[in-house]
Amino acid sequence: MKQQQPYCVLCGRSQREVPLLMEGMDGHICSDCVSQAYQVVQTELHSEKQKQKKTPKFQLIKPIEMKNYIDKYVIGQDEAKRHLCVAVYNHYKRLMQPKVKEDDIYIEKSNIIMVGETGTGKTYMARTIAKMLQVPFCIADATVVTEAGYVGEDVESILTRLLQSADYDVAKAEMGIVFIDEIDKIARKSDNPSITRDVSGEGVQQALLKLLEGAVVNCPPQGGRKHPDQKMIPINTENILFICGGAFDGIQRHISKRLNTQPIGFSSDDNFFEEFDDNHLMRYITSQDLKSFGLIPELLGRLPVVTFLNPLTKDTLLTILTDPKNALTKQYHKLFKMEGIDLEFEKAALEYIVDQAMEYKLGARGLRSICEAIITDAMFELPSQTDIKHLTITLPYAREKFERTVFHKMKKAA
Ligand code: ADP
Repeated sequence: MKQQQPYCVLCGRSQREVPLLMEGMDGHICSDCVSQAYQVVQTELHSEKQKQKKTPKFQLIKPIEMKNYIDKYVIGQDEAKRHLCVAVYNHYKRLMQPKVKEDDIYIEKSNIIMVGETGTGKTYMARTIAKMLQVPFCIADATVVTEAGYVGEDVESILTRLLQSADYDVAKAEMGIVFIDEIDKIARKSDNPSITRDVSGEGVQQALLKLLEGAVVNCPPQGGRKHPDQKMIPINTENILFICGGAFDGIQRHISKRLNTQPIGFSSDDNFFEEFDDNHLMRYITSQDLKSFGLIPELLGRLPVVTFLNPLTKDTLLTILTDPKNALTKQYHKLFKMEGIDLEFEKAALEYIVDQAMEYKLGARGLRSICEAIITDAMFELPSQTDIKHLTITLPYAREKFERTVFHKMKKAA
C-alpha cells in the first residue's frame, strides 16, 4: 500500500500523516524529520565549536628556543630567563594534558615571583614571553588593589584587564598571563600609617590568594569596584599563569640573616659569605626570605618559582641602548631615516646617557627619558630643515642638551 503512495524515507509516514512531504531524487522526506534533523545538526555543531574553543591554541616552543627569542629583546638576566622559560613551558605542557586522566599525577601550576630592582626588565620579560606565545597578557599593579571596604579596586579587576586583552573571549583569557607588579608593596607591615588602605597589607594578599588558587572568579566586565546590579563574567583562573614582580628593597638583609644562621646545607668554607656583596646575595633568595619580608605563606605557596634579576651594570645598559631588536638607538635611527636623515650616536655620548641613567637609579627605564631629553630639539627642528642629511650625537651635544633639561636641574637642586 505504502509502496504506491509517497512516504517519508526516514519515519515511514505517508503524505496524509505529515504536515508536508518533500520530494528528492530517490524518495521523499517529511517536514517533521527535516526540523528534527536541523535541531540535531545545530546541537552537534555548537558542541563541536565549544570543544574547539576549549582546546588551547598557542604556540608552544621549547625552553631553549624561548630563551633564544627573549635574548633578542632582553639583555642579560640569564638566571631569571631560564626560570621563566621552564616555568612557562611546564605551565603550557600542563594545559595540554588530556582532560581524561591516565594516572593520578596532577601537574601543579608554576606561578612565578621575580625579585629585582626597578627597571631591570621584569615586566619587559613577561611581556616578551606573552608576545612570543601569542596569549593574552595584562599588567596589574598590586598597590591599587585593596580589600573590599577600602578605597581602591577589587582584586577581580585584574582579571577584567586580562579579559579585555583577550577581546572578552573567556576561553582565551583563561590561559593568559597576568603580571602583578609591586607585589612587595603589599607585604605585611606593622607601621603603615595609611587609613585608606588596610593597615597591614595582609588583606590584599588574602584577596590575591583567591585569584592564585585556581578558582572560578566573577569579574566585573568594566573593572573597578563590583556592584550588585552588575552582570558578572565567571573566569576560571586554574590555567592562568601569574607572574609577580617586586623590588623587595632590603631583602638582602633577610637573606644574609638566614644564610648566617643556617647551620647546614651550605659550604663549610669560612670565606663562603665574605666574597659575596649584597647583589650577589640575591642569587640565594628563597620563599623563606620573602616570608620574612612580609608575604604570607599561603600566597608564597601559590608562587612556587622564585627568581631574581641582577641590577643592570654600565655595560649592560650600553648594550640595551644599542643591541636588542627594539633598541632605543635603532628606534631613533628609524624615526630620523623617515625624514631622510642619517642619525649616529658617538660612543662617548652613549656612555654619557648610561652614566646619567645609573645616577638616577632608574635602571633601563631611565634611558628613554634621557635620550628624549637629548634628542627632542633635533626631532622638533630637523623635519623643517630639508638640507640636513646627517646628525651625529656627540658627547658635547648630549651634555649640552641634557644639562638644559628639568631632569638635570632637579638633580642639581636635590
Ligand atoms: P621592571 O623591572 O621595573 O618591571 P621594566 O621591565 O618595565 O622594568 O623595564 C623598563 C624598560 O627598560 C623596558 O620597557 C625595556 O625597554 C628596558 N629594559 C629593562 N631591562 C632590560 C633588559 N634587561 N634588556 C633590555 N631592555 C630592558
